[in-house]
Amino acid sequence: MLFDFLIRMETQLTWYGHSAFKIKTGTGKILLIDPWITNPTFAGGKDELASLDHVDLIFLTHGHGDHVGNSIEIGKRTGAGLVSNFDLNAAIVSVLGYPKEQAGPELVGHLGGQLSLLDSEVKVQFVPAWHGSSIERENAPPVYAGNPTGLIIMLRDGLTIYHTGDTDLFSDMALVKRFHKIDAMLVCIGDHFTMGPDRAAEAVKLVAPKTVIPIHYGTFPLLTGTPEAFEDELKKRKVKTRLRVMHAGETITAG
Ligand SMILES: [Zn+2]
Repeated sequence: MLFDFLIRMETQLTWYGHSAFKIKTGTGKILLIDPWITNPTFAGGKDELASLDHVDLIFLTHGHGDHVGNSIEIGKRTGAGLVSNFDLNAAIVSVLGYPKEQAGPELVGHLGGQLSLLDSEVKVQFVPAWHGSSIERENAPPVYAGNPTGLIIMLRDGLTIYHTGDTDLFSDMALVKRFHKIDAMLVCIGDHFTMGPDRAAEAVKLVAPKTVIPIHYGTFPLLTGTPEAFEDELKKRKVKTRLRVMHAGETITAG
């Protein structure tokens, strides 16, 4: 019995590289975040994409192509619900053709709001991120997709995960800590389009998660932040959070 209990409670977190994650909850629900699975750092991307036949929910932080990634294909094939803010929802349905019936109002929120999903097994809160958000099209102006967000995903009997989305450091990140005990913070460190290692380390200090996993680096030459530089910056600030550097395609399990 105890063994059954332990298996049921296990959460698996897979990093696909860049900002893309898969979460398998204790009851076997499959959640994706910013699923650009075929990004250049993940050699097994095409196979993984083809093998995803069951996905419950796709969460998106903003509308840029490196975050929307393979969402449309996955949504059409698996029937996954799309969780995003109001403006991104409207843009992705009308411009990219995400199935409207899989992106209904129960899956749409906005900054400060918390949604209860999958019979309350999963909750999500939309929090600010300092970035842009639009959907790019070939030979046409980009389409407005609202404010970008970070996402706090709370699993019942499981982890609380803060995905920062793409953002700079901002002092209101300290508010996250007032409302949530973050088990895993997935933080962008790549520089150029987001904060780099030094500002990301300050962000970790504000949020005080148990574990931090650096993301959004090394995908292109422009994203120059490295886990090593990030580790140095955390040490400089005497941050107690455990640093966990993942490789693309790796899965970690948390009880
Ligand atoms: Zn990005």
